Amino acid sequence: MKLYMQVLIALGLGLKRNWHIFAGLVLGVFAGIWLHKDPNPVVMTTLTFIGQVFIRMIQMVVIPLVISAIVIGITSVGDGKQIGKLGSRMILYYAIITSIAVALGAGLALLFKPGLGAAEYINSDIATNIQAQVAATIEVQKENLLNIILEFIPKNPLASIAAGDMVPILVFALFFSIALAKVGEINRPFVSFFESIFAATMKITDWIMCFAAPGVFALTAVSVSAFGVEIFTTISKYLGVLALGFAIQLFVVFPIFLRIFSKVPVWMLYAAIAEAMMVAFGTASSSATLPLTIACCEKRGISHKVTSFVIPLGATLNMDGTALLQVVAVIFLAQAYGVVLTPFLIVQICLLAIVASSTCAGIPGAGIITIALVLNGMGLSPEQMVAGFAFLFTIERITDMMRTLVNVTSDAVVAAAIADNENEINYDLLNNPEEYNDVIN
Ligand code: ASP
Repeated sequence: MKLYMQVLIALGLGLKRNWHIFAGLVLGVFAGIWLHKDPNPVVMTTLTFIGQVFIRMIQMVVIPLVISAIVIGITSVGDGKQIGKLGSRMILYYAIITSIAVALGAGLALLFKPGLGAAEYINSDIATNIQAQVAATIEVQKENLLNIILEFIPKNPLASIAAGDMVPILVFALFFSIALAKVGEINRPFVSFFESIFAATMKITDWIMCFAAPGVFALTAVSVSAFGVEIFTTISKYLGVLALGFAIQLFVVFPIFLRIFSKVPVWMLYAAIAEAMMVAFGTASSSATLPLTIACCEKRGISHKVTSFVIPLGATLNMDGTALLQVVAVIFLAQAYGVVLTPFLIVQICLLAIVASSTCAGIPGAGIITIALVLNGMGLSPEQMVAGFAFLFTIERITDMMRTLVNVTSDAVVAAAIADNENEINYDLLNNPEEYNDVIN
């Protein structure tokens, strides 16, 4: 083998795992651009296969991990008062972050008006082709809010587990864990059982992460190949406003939030969760990233008691990036179709986006579907709704990757703030990246 290849390989092996994933991400973007220009079916099939293997392997551990994490988290907090305190603080923090996200999205969309003159793109060919599928989606979403909330209560928890419905699973796990905490010592065998499940699922996560770099590479390449770079020129204003919103949330809002509510150094936290952030971008799924988010936080100083409770709930309910996107997207369509945006309507959009985002699952594309909830009542004709919605679908994946990165980061930000408030954070470890264990042992 040539010497320079040997040096490159040695360098690659010596680098920390997050640099491997980062390299996968960057190379994936280039490979995607190349594949868009020169589609090669064999390469595409291979990459899609590799990406799916990676995602499915992580999904395989999500449900046992979520249930066991919540059982251990809640029973280790113990008494009901403490759980209530922790839970209400978590809801407050998630609510603050999501409210800022929607206000930010509305402010930016009203300031830059990305929708003005966009109607011609909205009626593009690709969008027209998927209109039937979109019309069906809107129909489903028209079910009223009460029904959606009712669906959160599982009639049969095992059926929810089999179907992989995260919110009903969480509701059941919460009730079950609080009950276990209440019954006292008698819960020991059961809690030990879940402790074993948790440890084993974390071990499997370690193994899966060895495969993260090729997995992220393949997923990114396939996603980018679908739209190429032209997309950035046609609707760059819409994507620009979104990217700006996400960047402000990441680099201004979260640092200020951590400064006000804790003494967690934001850059240290970002260094600690870098792998999770990149995997979130590559997979566009908070749920699939969940095992890694927990592993990053725990191995770098945030206590198990906090992560196991706050992060699974966040990965399902806290979707500030999604809420931001929904507000920008709806205002974009309203501007494109000339709907007059009264202050009342804007507040309505923001409030509905908070609800719609938190009812969406942490999987790719979920947030774009629940937008229907926000779009209803905007005064658009059914044809406009279908066309607008179809347009959003065509540029979905790239925005999904960005918003999922924000969703996952905010889960860790809130977990870190709560851990700080509760004295459940090991700053010696968090502040010393040299001491970090690779997430993979
Ligand atoms: N993909 C997002 C997530 O998993 C949800 C969404 O579609 O907005 O966090």
